[in-house]
Amino acid sequence: MRAFIAIGSNLSDPVTQAKAAITALEQSAVITLVQASSLYSSKPMGPADQPDYINAVVEIATDLAPDALLDETQRIELEHGRVRKAERWGPRTLDLDILLYDDVVMDSPRLTIPHYGMKSREFVLYPLAEIAAELVLPCGTSLHTLLQHVDRNGLTVWSE
Ligand code: ATP
Ligand code: MG
Ligand code: MG
Repeated sequence: MRAFIAIGSNLSDPVTQAKAAITALEQSAVITLVQASSLYSSKPMGPADQPDYINAVVEIATDLAPDALLDETQRIELEHGRVRKAERWGPRTLDLDILLYDDVVMDSPRLTIPHYGMKSREFVLYPLAEIAAELVLPCGTSLHTLLQHVDRNGLTVWSE
């Protein structure tokens, strides 16, 4: 199965965190990394009094079912110092969100696929377009169409 995962970090050297997350996905015994976008710098969503984010999107191949894939991405989050806090969208060392899993559409208490926020988030759509420009979502909407409606909002490709 092919899936896309969004990576986000804004604590503890986010560039290093994002690179470490890509390496962790690459080294996972149950995931094959297919391709990774550039790293991007974005403005925080929600509380503004937190550092800018580094974001990326990766394409993976895996035999894991969606729930098991979430177990694996949450294991990697915790391994990278993620502490779950009450405040939503607060600062974090590492966030791994499953954007798409083949053409699966599901909504369970633990897992919503496609990710509920992906259609409106510039820091997801632009990195995704870099690696999968011709993507069409399970609902039939193309990534091209979504990008026409979502501003870059200061999103830039991060460079050393
Ligand atoms: P947002 O989901 O708005 O990006 P967040 O990533 O900060 O916010 P988390 O604290 O990482 O939210 O996750 C909260 C819960 O969301 C997780 O415990 C997980 O069960 C659930 N969840 C639902 N759908 C997904 C998905 N597609 N990918 C990752 N987690 C998901
Ligand atoms: Mg998230
Ligand atoms: Mg998350």
